Order: sequence, then C-alpha cells, then structure tokens
Amino acid sequence: MIKGKTRNRTYRAIYRLLDRVSPVPFDCGMICGSVCCTAAADEDMGIYLLPGEEKIHDKNADWLTWHTQSTEEYDFPESWHGKVSWIRCIDPPHCPRSMRPIQCRTFPLAPHITEEGELTLVWNDSDLPYCCPMIEDETELDPRFIQATLTVWKHLIRDPLIYDLVRMDSEERYED
Ligand code: SF4
Ligand code: SF4
Repeated sequence: MIKGKTRNRTYRAIYRLLDRVSPVPFDCGMICGSVCCTAAADEDMGIYLLPGEEKIHDKNADWLTWHTQSTEEYDFPESWHGKVSWIRCIDPPHCPRSMRPIQCRTFPLAPHITEEGELTLVWNDSDLPYCCPMIEDETELDPRFIQATLTVWKHLIRDPLIYDLVRMDSEERYED
C-alpha cells in the first residue's frame, strides 16, 4: 500500500476534530435522501482513503468492504506508486459516524491550492453522478466547519503525497 508521511495519531486527531463540526446545523441528508452516500453506492463508486488512512480502520469492520486500486491504472499524481485503498459502504447512509473517512468528512468542500500557493477551500467540483443541494445552492456553511476543514487540510498537505494530490486537482481548475 502506498505509504505517506501522515501518522496514525494525526489521522485520529483529525477525525476527532472533524467529529465536532458539521457543514450545517441540521442533518443535510434529510433534504436529499443522503444522496452522496446512496447514489455513490448505486453507481458502484467507492471512497478513496488517503495514504495511511487505512491504518486506523478495522479491516474486519462490518459496515464496509475493502478494495484496492493501482495508482498506475487511475488518475493519481505521478509521485504515487503502488496501491491505494478504497472502501464501499455496505448499508449507506448508515455507518459509524466516528469512522467516516476524510473524503466524507470534508465534503461538500474540497481543498484548493491557488496559483500563488495558498491553500483555500472551494465547493467540491468532482464529476459526481448526483447533485448535492448544498453545492447547487451554495448554502452558507457553519464557519466552524469551514475553519476545522481548512485546518485539517493544512496539516494533511504537509505530507508530500497529499500535497501532490491536492495540487493536481487544483491545477485542473486553473484551466477553467
Ligand atoms: S452533503 Fe450534500 S449530497 Fe450529501 S447529504 Fe448533505 S446535502 Fe445531501
Ligand atoms: S462512510 Fe458513511 S458518510 Fe461516508 S459514504 Fe459511507 S455511509 Fe456515507
């Protein structure tokens, strides 16, 4: 499995920090039927884990299945060599909240490094098979969620592999 520099204890601290915040002060799944969890499952999509994030998860947990992908076969940064973990939820949107991967926790925002090298957050603009109402409406998000998410990505991009991933996604936006 691809090895990053982010330690287990950093991932655990990040999970704890993000456990304390939510994008909005209500369950946004109520307005869309938790489409970001369920549609992804219907479309045979999975959730990528960041390098090393898999180490804090229980491989025998009953709420997910484990898969791997080769970085050579898919669109990953050139610095990524090996396999990455991705998971699929067995009964979405039901999962242990404290174990949601970072990809779920920072949605609907995405990290972006500007051409001047500054880390900011943007609405997630991945090519998704569903519409998130919060992204569509540009819903005002809880400032504590925004701040915690920015703090988390600032830590994460200290890992060169994660920096390269965020930079690659950001560069695709420069052309827009
Ligand atoms: S993040 Fe968006 S798509 Fe996911 S549950 Fe909330 S409103 Fe729905
Ligand atoms: S881990 Fe939880 S929040 Fe993330 S997609 Fe699965 S069910 Fe949804």
